[in-house]
Amino acid sequence: MALSCVCMSADVYVVCLQHALSTEKEEVMGLLIGEIDVDAKAKISAVVMLRRSDKRKDRVEISPEQLTAATIKAEELARTLGQPMRVLGWYHSHPHITVWPSHVDVQTQAMYQMMDQGFVGVIFSVFLEDKITKEQEVQVTCFQSQSRNMEGTPDHYMDRIEIPMRIIPTTCLSQPCLRSMVELPEILLQEEDEVYEATKRLPHLNQLAQLHNNAVYTKSLCHIAEVVQGPLLNALEQRHATNVKRCEELRSEMKHLTQALASLPPAAPHH
Ligand SMILES: [Zn+2]
Repeated sequence: MALSCVCMSADVYVVCLQHALSTEKEEVMGLLIGEIDVDAKAKISAVVMLRRSDKRKDRVEISPEQLTAATIKAEELARTLGQPMRVLGWYHSHPHITVWPSHVDVQTQAMYQMMDQGFVGVIFSVFLEDKITKEQEVQVTCFQSQSRNMEGTPDHYMDRIEIPMRIIPTTCLSQPCLRSMVELPEILLQEEDEVYEATKRLPHLNQLAQLHNNAVYTKSLCHIAEVVQGPLLNALEQRHATNVKRCEELRSEMKHLTQALASLPPAAPHH
């Protein structure tokens, strides 16, 4: 069963994009949470960002622990929102490369589809620069895998099929999306910690090498603070200021309307 369409709410899109734009050196990935309706339409309304244990290219694998954690999160969401929710798919980024799924991506997708037919893959291509205008473009694609049923080809030969994707406008940033957004710097810090702890276990490190490792660690933390935490804080503060202003406007409008209502002549008695 191929999906007919994927509807991603705008706040989920923002969170995925924020994640994809957090690093231009490595691919990042996460899981998509939502539900599939009767018309085979997937509605994605939440996201779980994943920590990478292997940062090499094309190594976007999800560990069973991460999948379990995401399933638990989906169940929690289902309880709070009072509607069915489950892990529906995965997303990953392609920094500096085209949006099209690699051979490995198509195989990985096929593996997930064996467990869940409605599973879907989304790819965000970021930092792709036009050589002449220097403009950067973000591209998104949504795909599933399909085995190529040609005679003489082995069963495992897979093709990708493109699934139409729609971004559904939202009036606000939902609580689960806001939480994912704020989790991003935390995930990045954990990744740096892991690498740094591993260097400490290396044998025969002289003082200069240790000093170097400490400096690299500090530099990475500063980088996260500068390019992720700082801008995120700014964006959220601006959002808050806009909301406060809007709230004041609505209050004053309510005051005017209440006054106008009070100055109206009393309603004529009914006959
Ligand atoms: Zn890929």
